[in-house]
Amino acid sequence: MSKAPTAARSGLLACEVCRLVSHAPPPGSDAYCPRCGAMLHMRKPASLARTWAFLIAAIILYVPANTLPIMDTSSLFGTQSDTILSGVAFLWTSGSFVLASLVFFASVMVPLVKMIALAVLAGSVQMRSVAHPRTRTRLYRIIEFAGRWSMLDIYVVTILVALVQVSTFASIHAGPGAAAFGAVVVLTMFAAASFDPRLIWDIQEKES
Ligand SMILES: [Zn+2]
Repeated sequence: MSKAPTAARSGLLACEVCRLVSHAPPPGSDAYCPRCGAMLHMRKPASLARTWAFLIAAIILYVPANTLPIMDTSSLFGTQSDTILSGVAFLWTSGSFVLASLVFFASVMVPLVKMIALAVLAGSVQMRSVAHPRTRTRLYRIIEFAGRWSMLDIYVVTILVALVQVSTFASIHAGPGAAAFGAVVVLTMFAAASFDPRLIWDIQEKES
């Protein structure tokens, strides 16, 4: 473990808004950035508790997101409700293998893997693990990057709705599953934003 100086060890902290470095306040007292007035924190406040809260809410909503219909299609041939998976199956059987794989990957796999990865990160910090800090930091970077791609499903529904409404032979409405799915994506984004990856390294320093 390198002994390079860190801001925390030197009693300094950076403003999260304007990045001005100031002296850390005594523990338990509030401090504000002397330049821009933003509240100063050594680490994201209640990082672990917030990450768990958003993550557990996301895990619960992942169930209706996958079991409730994400869109209802009414046409001359009747009404049809599709969940994400039945939509993927429909795309696959109608020959759109690339689109089916894309929707399955972005809407089913990405949120699932993201929730598992966040649980691993939060759980390892909770249990004060010192194992593989670099790998876990890399995992956090991947989670942040992947979050931007998981709204793809909502775009697909939006494009389908626009296409079908133009033809006027059928109408598509977003089902309750779409709201749950959107909530899962937003909640996992909040969970990732609440997690402070510096906690991984704080434990390394204390335990070494
Ligand atoms: Zn500032």
